[in-house]
Amino acid sequence: MNVPKKPRYEHAKLVGRTFINSLNIKSYPIDPIKIVYLMNWRFEIDNLYGEEGYTFYNTKNKSYCIVIDNAQGIKKQRCKFTIAHEIGHIIMNHYTSYDIGSLTESEYRILDLEADVVAGEILMPYISIRKNLNRSILYLANKFDVSYSAMETRLKFLNVYNLCNENNLATTTK
Ligand SMILES: [Zn+2]
Repeated sequence: MNVPKKPRYEHAKLVGRTFINSLNIKSYPIDPIKIVYLMNWRFEIDNLYGEEGYTFYNTKNKSYCIVIDNAQGIKKQRCKFTIAHEIGHIIMNHYTSYDIGSLTESEYRILDLEADVVAGEILMPYISIRKNLNRSILYLANKFDVSYSAMETRLKFLNVYNLCNENNLATTTK
């Protein structure tokens, strides 16, 4: 199968949203490591020499192992995003649909953009954002334990950025 010419943003949104809704998680922030274990995938920390994370797919027993670079340990939010991004690759079937090892740089970039969208759906679920649109961006960033800029990007992507009350500092906890 060929990698799509453009990232399938709407498809990625739907895949991520369906997945997180199916897990029926009621408390925030979402812990992507818990999801990895819930799905019976493996998780490891190793020295990836600059690479943030990757997923090892075992074609024989069809199992996944997400590996995160050990230098990321101190940056918790970044680490969580990397894991959620790797989950994105898995549930978008990137490993089973494409020959990941032989992709061009631009093909890989397309799949990465799709995985980023799924990561956003996992860490900042739409269902919860929708209920909290009267809150400030900082409040939401704290609720989902993501960086302010990640929260901003997500709200812009969902076209609800202008609905969020940026100046509502009374609701922030930090
Ligand atoms: Zn990736």
